Amino acid sequence: MSVRYQRKQYWNEPTMNWWEKAYLPEVLRGLFITTGVFLRNMGKWVTGRRGAVTTYYPEERRPDFAPRNRGKHVLTQRPDGSVQCIACNMCATVCPAKVIEIEPGFDANDPAHPKYPVRFEIDYSRCVFCGMCVEACPEDAIRMAPDVPNLVSDDRYNMWLTMDEMMTWRPQADVAKPYPPKPTLPVLPLVRDARGAHGVAGGVPSKH
Ligand code: SF4
Ligand code: SF4
Repeated sequence: MSVRYQRKQYWNEPTMNWWEKAYLPEVLRGLFITTGVFLRNMGKWVTGRRGAVTTYYPEERRPDFAPRNRGKHVLTQRPDGSVQCIACNMCATVCPAKVIEIEPGFDANDPAHPKYPVRFEIDYSRCVFCGMCVEACPEDAIRMAPDVPNLVSDDRYNMWLTMDEMMTWRPQADVAKPYPPKPTLPVLPLVRDARGAHGVAGGVPSKH
């Protein structure tokens, strides 16, 4: 069963003006643009020049994606297999399409990385694959790999890329980065008490 999430509302959410709300003029404008492109392309073919070629996706896929195309996100892992992300939310903040949703967790027994994502998802129905999330990440926790995501669906909620998929699809780690070992004894009783008040209920969930 697919889970439906409430979209966050941001201060810069676009609003429609009266012209856009009228709807029909915008439909006619879209048809005008489409017809213009169609006629231009047709003109190229009938005059012996090469016009645009239609690829019947998803049955067909273009073989000529650029080798540097980065079309799918990966969440990197620490040497112990836990997620490298520290749930700082910088990627979600910088994302121009506002498609990253992160639910942070808190682990008082890992003082070097007490925050981590319990849920990390990207709505691929709206991602523009700009790579700004990768640039903004201070931890090299999110990367984009050469691939074309399989976006075919009749339900946009099936287009959410989950944390599991981002970690297991093509696992990547930053082997050069040193990580302090976890302490063997429980630490930060005060912080743990604070977690009881504000953090994840029912104990510390395991990191992925
Ligand atoms: S690639 Fe761009 S649009 Fe997609 S999640 Fe990253 S920042 Fe957002
Ligand atoms: S992926 Fe990077 S920028 Fe995004 S929340 Fe995790 S650590 Fe922060």
